[in-house]
Amino acid sequence: MSVLQEMAKQNIKLPSPPGIALRLMEALRNDEFSYAGISGIIQSDPALTARVLTVVNSAFYSLPEKVGNLDRALAIMGVNAVKNVALSFILLDNLAGNADNGFDLNYFWKRSITAAVSSELLAPHVNLGGDDIFISSLLQDTGILVICLSRPNDYLKVLDEKKATGLAVEAIEDRMFGFNHQDVGSEILEKWGLPESIYLPIRYHHRHEQTPDQYRRQAKVLFLSGRVSSLYNDSLSAVKIREIGDILKDSLTMCDSFLNDLIDNVAEQSLKTITSFGMPSGDMRQFTQLLQEANEELFKLNRSYEARLEEISQEKSKTEKLALEQREAINRLWEISFRDELTGLNNRRYLQDFLEGELGRSAHYGSRFSLLLLDIDHFKKVNDTYGHQAGDLVLKAVGTTLQVNTRKCDIVVRYGGEEFIVVLPETGSQDALRIAEQLREAIATTDVAVIDHRVRVTISIGVAVCDMWKAKIAADRLIDAADNALYTAKKSGRNRVCMAMAKLETMEPFAPRVSP
Ligand code: GH3
Ligand code: MG
Ligand code: MG
Repeated sequence: MSVLQEMAKQNIKLPSPPGIALRLMEALRNDEFSYAGISGIIQSDPALTARVLTVVNSAFYSLPEKVGNLDRALAIMGVNAVKNVALSFILLDNLAGNADNGFDLNYFWKRSITAAVSSELLAPHVNLGGDDIFISSLLQDTGILVICLSRPNDYLKVLDEKKATGLAVEAIEDRMFGFNHQDVGSEILEKWGLPESIYLPIRYHHRHEQTPDQYRRQAKVLFLSGRVSSLYNDSLSAVKIREIGDILKDSLTMCDSFLNDLIDNVAEQSLKTITSFGMPSGDMRQFTQLLQEANEELFKLNRSYEARLEEISQEKSKTEKLALEQREAINRLWEISFRDELTGLNNRRYLQDFLEGELGRSAHYGSRFSLLLLDIDHFKKVNDTYGHQAGDLVLKAVGTTLQVNTRKCDIVVRYGGEEFIVVLPETGSQDALRIAEQLREAIATTDVAVIDHRVRVTISIGVAVCDMWKAKIAADRLIDAADNALYTAKKSGRNRVCMAMAKLETMEPFAPRVSP
């Protein structure tokens, strides 16, 4: 489907030329036209006359002297050039006059004129001369006006999406309408009788690499002039300004200062042209000033980024400190909850938890383990003879001896007072008895230095073996069994080991065995 058919389908109409344009075109079709006739038609619109003269006198034509009237302009520039200038303004005026209120016409004009002035100044840098580049550039976004006339609300959506996403406007148009402002602009210009040298570069200005050879440089200048004119878009970010500067530098292979001068020149010339057209110029700062502002903005951004980094690093070390304190608090709590303060051994609460796990494992897997209940013999006498503090030292020493003489996997607990419990995982009665005996021996042969004395204590041990399958018994029953055996050991003379012989799951009465 052709662009025209697609446009018709999308309800986008190409406005017909108004009377003055028709008369101008009609006059030119007639081979017998006269300069006076042409200038008469243009002069019937004084505003148009003023605009044409402004362009004629602009730097692009670099006429040796100022041209004050249309007849002279026609004589110097030729009738076609003047016609093109005149038609352009009639067209833009006509479209803009009918455009919807939501569209910012002033901004559109400002962009078009700045682009036209930029083209004028950029053209020599790509070895381009000729009359039409100013007009081509001025009209490059005519398609936008045409689409706006038929579909104002939809076009505002295009602009909103561009603002929100930064996507290229022609890509959004293609998606929304099936064609873009390049296609529409070149169609209407062709229809209005403007030459190919004007409308063809417009058809390709956002994809200038694909332009037919003959007009490739023109399309490139249009593209670059569009970029320069976008510098004067107030909402442009610092990064964007630098990006545009880089595109220009790369495309024209020129140094920074040359480029800055060139773009400053654009601001100056555009300002003059815009005011000579009687339009508000708004805030058109020079490029060097824009760049400086952009750099300051970037500097501020970097500063706030650095400050934020510093904040984040402070927050991080605060959080780490807090986490450390929390870990320490948890450790302290654990110590308080599960350790005996005097001996540093596990306490009764720890034993409770550990036994629960061990009894569960034993019931589930049929594994066995042993529990030794140890009680210091006649400990009261130690206290009575050497004092309570000496008694404490003995308790500590016994704890150490028990730890030193057990395996890593064994659990040594201060059960309370002068009673200790040692749990021996994966240990049956034979090994339990052997280990108990070693412990008894170790305590009985260890001297404890107490002030200026050496104290030696003995212990009695009751052993219970948990050897079960599928029936979980309570921890209390195991400790009771060991306690019964301990009682027998005490009764049989102390400093000895007794084994509880009953099978725990059958709950038979205990018949403690004394050893050795
Ligand atoms: P037996 O051989 O029958 O066990 O005699 P015993 O004297 O060791 O037993 P008894 O239960 O009569 O006395 C235990 C003593 O342990 C009484 C108590 O003052 C002392 N004791 C308990 N806890 C501590 C402690 O933390 N420090 C000190 N120094 N003594 C303690
Ligand atoms: Mg006791
Ligand atoms: Mg005791």
